[in-house]
Amino acid sequence: MSTMNMNGNDNDTNYRYKMPVFKVTVAGKGNGVYTIFNNIDDISKALNHPVEVIMKYLASVSGSSYIQARETITGPHNPAELKEFIMEYNKHLVFCSKCGIPETVPSLSGNKKNPKLEFSCSACKNITEAKSANKRIDKGIDIIVKYLKAGGEWKVHKGTCVKQTKASGDSFETSGDLSQEFEEPNETSADSNEPNEESSGGLAQVSAEEESNPFDFI
Ligand SMILES: [Zn+2]
Repeated sequence: MSTMNMNGNDNDTNYRYKMPVFKVTVAGKGNGVYTIFNNIDDISKALNHPVEVIMKYLASVSGSSYIQARETITGPHNPAELKEFIMEYNKHLVFCSKCGIPETVPSLSGNKKNPKLEFSCSACKNITEAKSANKRIDKGIDIIVKYLKAGGEWKVHKGTCVKQTKASGDSFETSGDLSQEFEEPNETSADSNEPNEESSGGLAQVSAEEESNPFDFI
């Protein structure tokens, strides 16, 4: 599997945090064109962010719609465009703003009507508040807040974003501590989005795969 550095700088060959390159298929015709994400589960595991959140973000910032039932977004999208969007997302919503390591877990604090999004870093232990950077990041913050308010589960697969020599198989779940406080019965359940497999070494394992053409257009 092809990978790219999570900080967007592919010239840094020693950079240890990697994620899979987007593999997409553009299908449909005319106004019905849509993009299928073939490896969104692997990307979700590398970022430790739920598929639903990443897909909603990519749809939102590209002016498209997320069709959750099919794990697709409307319109044609290519890996280069998606890479730009996700690198900006990583910078502001995945990396710890103190230590720069992508091992943060988001949670809500403050009052119910106007909760604040915070990231706890498992590496340096700092808790930092999500900061607005531009309209795209505002959308990302909004999507994550809504997901957590609805009681969405935030699974963390330890070690999947770090290239390791040994698979740890070690994963833990962070159940939203605030899920009850923020419970909104009208929101739809996000249960269907939880990854169904335990972590099994992530990128270190799949990197052995040979990918012929990551840009898998029909
Ligand atoms: Zn940190």
